Amino acid sequence: MHWSAPVITVGVDRAAVEAALQGGELRCPVVDCGGRLGPWGWARERAVRGLAGRVRPRRARCARCRGTQVLLPASVLLRRADAVTVIGAGLLARAGGAGHRRVAAELGRPASTVRGWVRRIASVADRVLAVLAGVAAELGVEFVPPAPTSEPVAAVVELVGALARAVARRLGGSCAPWRLAAVVCGGRLLAPHGPDLAPGMGAGGNTSWLWAGGP
Ligand SMILES: [Zn+2]
Repeated sequence: MHWSAPVITVGVDRAAVEAALQGGELRCPVVDCGGRLGPWGWARERAVRGLAGRVRPRRARCARCRGTQVLLPASVLLRRADAVTVIGAGLLARAGGAGHRRVAAELGRPASTVRGWVRRIASVADRVLAVLAGVAAELGVEFVPPAPTSEPVAAVVELVGALARAVARRLGGSCAPWRLAAVVCGGRLLAPHGPDLAPGMGAGGNTSWLWAGGP
């Protein structure tokens, strides 16, 4: 997958994203810029396992700094071929004690793929937990994250769940936990160095977690 960085994670409702982009509601995530983003073509289309149809991320360009961004739907992660809900289901099963081979068989994915998710989330758990905890604090969620050193996958799973419940309460609806994780991590939940330590960056300051809602 060759979606070039930088990216902004947006909603899965194409029409809503398009309207926000056309209406100048999306802001440039570049530090100290904050200019309005406008439409700038599309990134390469590709299939994502676990999603119906193909994904063709929108590109945007900042009117102020002229930088371009890829608007990554909240249903996918940067450079991952599986939908974030599929990856999340795998991490949840793993945290519940299932071995990666069993998880892989249940999801119909290669064992090496599932092992890769688990190893990566374990290696970036500190940053993921820091970002999730930052959003939790922003939302006023009282949550004491479990120590990532003992069970990093379980710690991430637990915090993602707690955050999703808090957001659902706040929005008065439901919130897809792993889509929320994709949004607050800017699509970098499983990136080599994990997410940037700037939660809520991109789609309108500290409200980008709203993108995790929708159909
Ligand atoms: Zn800019």
